[in-house]
Amino acid sequence: METMNQNTLDYPVLPLLPLRGLVVLPGNTIHFDVARKKSIIALQAALRGNQQIFLVSQRDARVDDPCAEDLYEIGTIAEIKQVLKLPGDSVRILVQGLARGRMVSLMPYRKCLKAQVEELPPAPGSATSMERVALVRKMRGLFEEYAAIFGKISPDVIAAVIEMDDPGELADFVAANIMLQVEDRQYILETIDPIERIAALLSIVDREIEILSIEQDIDEKTHEQMDKNQRDYYLREQIKVIQGELEEDDPGREAEDFAERIKALGLPKESEETLLKEAGRFAKMPFGTAEATVSRNYLEICLELPWNTASRGKVDLARARRILEQDHYGLEKVKTRMLEYLAVRKLSDRVGGQVICLVGPPGVGKTSIASSIARAMGRKFVRVSLGGVRDEADIRGHRKTYIGSMPGRILNGLKIAGSKNPVMLLDEVDKMGTDHRGDPASALLEVFDTEQNHSFRDHFVEIPFDLSDVVFIATANTTDTIPRPLLDRMELIELVSYTDNEKLEIAKRHLLPKQLKKHGLKKTDLRIGDECLREIIDGYTKESGVRNLERSLAVLCRKAAFRKADGEKGALKVTLLNLPELLGPRKFKAERLDKQGEVGVANGLAWTSVGGECLKIEVAALPGSGKIELTGSLGDVMKESAKAAMTYIRSRASLFAIDPDFYKNTDIHIHVPEGAVPKDGPSAGITMATAILSALTGAPVARDVAMTGEITLRGRVLPIGGLREKTMAALKNGYKRVLIPADNEPDLAEIDQTVRAELEFFPVESYD
Ligand code: ADP
Repeated sequence: METMNQNTLDYPVLPLLPLRGLVVLPGNTIHFDVARKKSIIALQAALRGNQQIFLVSQRDARVDDPCAEDLYEIGTIAEIKQVLKLPGDSVRILVQGLARGRMVSLMPYRKCLKAQVEELPPAPGSATSMERVALVRKMRGLFEEYAAIFGKISPDVIAAVIEMDDPGELADFVAANIMLQVEDRQYILETIDPIERIAALLSIVDREIEILSIEQDIDEKTHEQMDKNQRDYYLREQIKVIQGELEEDDPGREAEDFAERIKALGLPKESEETLLKEAGRFAKMPFGTAEATVSRNYLEICLELPWNTASRGKVDLARARRILEQDHYGLEKVKTRMLEYLAVRKLSDRVGGQVICLVGPPGVGKTSIASSIARAMGRKFVRVSLGGVRDEADIRGHRKTYIGSMPGRILNGLKIAGSKNPVMLLDEVDKMGTDHRGDPASALLEVFDTEQNHSFRDHFVEIPFDLSDVVFIATANTTDTIPRPLLDRMELIELVSYTDNEKLEIAKRHLLPKQLKKHGLKKTDLRIGDECLREIIDGYTKESGVRNLERSLAVLCRKAAFRKADGEKGALKVTLLNLPELLGPRKFKAERLDKQGEVGVANGLAWTSVGGECLKIEVAALPGSGKIELTGSLGDVMKESAKAAMTYIRSRASLFAIDPDFYKNTDIHIHVPEGAVPKDGPSAGITMATAILSALTGAPVARDVAMTGEITLRGRVLPIGGLREKTMAALKNGYKRVLIPADNEPDLAEIDQTVRAELEFFPVESYD
């Protein structure tokens, strides 16, 4: 291109429209959309002038604001026929190519592109008339062949081709009406000599026909392979074959994009290289293959992980205390322990290695405490459920080569949190199992280990991820089923069942306001008194925590919301009378004691992972041959316990004044009725002994006595766990007196005051 000087000043200046992926040929009428601001301004300039505009293709369609180097030198002078405004700022224009033009120089305007354009009139071309005729005929023939294979050319176009005699015009017309690469079309535009042009086009069309017929061939081939319901497979197959035939790679735009994003992550060098290598491999994979899909999925997931995104927040103990108080009623010990934990973390961030495990029945606020901690620390909160996890890969991911593989739950949790230092709640660690596919608990140990977790390796992600900033909090219903090594790594904080009074307070202060807000209600929309709340606690929920209570309140809020939306004025007043109407009939009957003591039935107390329960044990003694039968929901430990009780009674037959030969002539049947939750443990020992003894002697067991304690062969009564839950169950079921192992006496200090006031406790040391 020449610079501006005297003799170039003579060329006319035309507004310039850069085209992306499009070449307009002289004689060709075409419409397209214009959106770029500079282009719109150029268009306006042209409309103000003689409607002429200079159309030039961009060498690279991706460039947004092209300069002279980004444009081809030869373009088309065109006339604007029509302009249509589209929604937004873009317009659709109809143009007709008039003549070839050469860009002499690009004018230095800022608002839009204008160029000095030298018009290139049609050249005569150097060929004999016979040669011309031959070329034209050949072109027509090839075009017809092309149209026959391609099948989508209108008959008008075919008719026009047959009528055209001028080789240059014919070439332009044909080039405009067949499928061509931009480069090919530009080449036709740039070939000024009409003879050369038509010759060039002939070979291009020849090649296109070749490709088309190969494609058809492929179509047929793949059709043969295709199963009806394998459409997907067919499409992929088609792409593969096409790629095989053309031996062309995907240009790797996507891979470049990946590479840029990878570099922006700021990863350690080694990790970055690994990912870049993968992106490079991806670039070479044939598009659409299973391999490429796996690779893309892998890169996408890696890019989504919060490698360097962290929430910044300082631990402010006063604020943390406020938040914990705000969110929870009671739980004093737990709050103190959590604050201590925060204090330690504040002093030394790296001591954070200790993992807290909140242990307690469902609905007592474990999740809720953990989420408050996150709030207090200014961190994101994410819950990862471990219940039912039995495979190491659940924690650590599957290798990416498996179809459908994913990172494990830990990294997935981080992805969801979008931060590398969230508070991560590992829910239900006690419900994790083990099987032949590896031990999830040991994978978890590695996650917790501060020595190792700064470079945690997920099988899927492969490159190490730093977990050392994550605050892990686990929850469990019981510690019994947590593997020992894992248990040792965790600091246990126990949350216990709530008493009815505590539930009432929680309902009033927290659950009800929360539910009202959730349902878009004001305090005045729902009125419910203490006695109703008590009735709900007592008659509609039977739980250690407050989940069902919260659910019941949600039901009431829903009714109130419906009323309000329905246009009724005033509050929904909940009373003891309309409660059954709102919540349905009472679900749990008031527990009443048996009218009188029965023979062969003793009342035990059991602890389950969801709270305390009463457990009646029935024994029948029938004439027979000394068989012992155990039925009902007895675990192994309970069976042993029953046998121990039998032996003990045999050894004391004289003391209890029973037939010393009863084990020869009496069949004993011990039955433990199925409760909602299976229970096992040694603490039913003295209950079983009592029931057996009652059955053998015919003396009834006092109806208001409940008992718990393990028994030895010599009749010693050994201590048991879960006293608090058990005594609460005793109170709920109306017992007045409770026998407990003497060694458990100190634990009485721990149990609830109401319970202590209502029940009478009898510590026992020996069954004798
Ligand atoms: P968990 O995780 O122990 O099963 P959640 O944390 O899910 O129990 O608690 C259930 C519901 O009860 C939550 O809405 C929680 O906010 C509420 N809750 C539990 N204990 C309390 C409490 N002491 N004070 C206020 N709300 C509580």
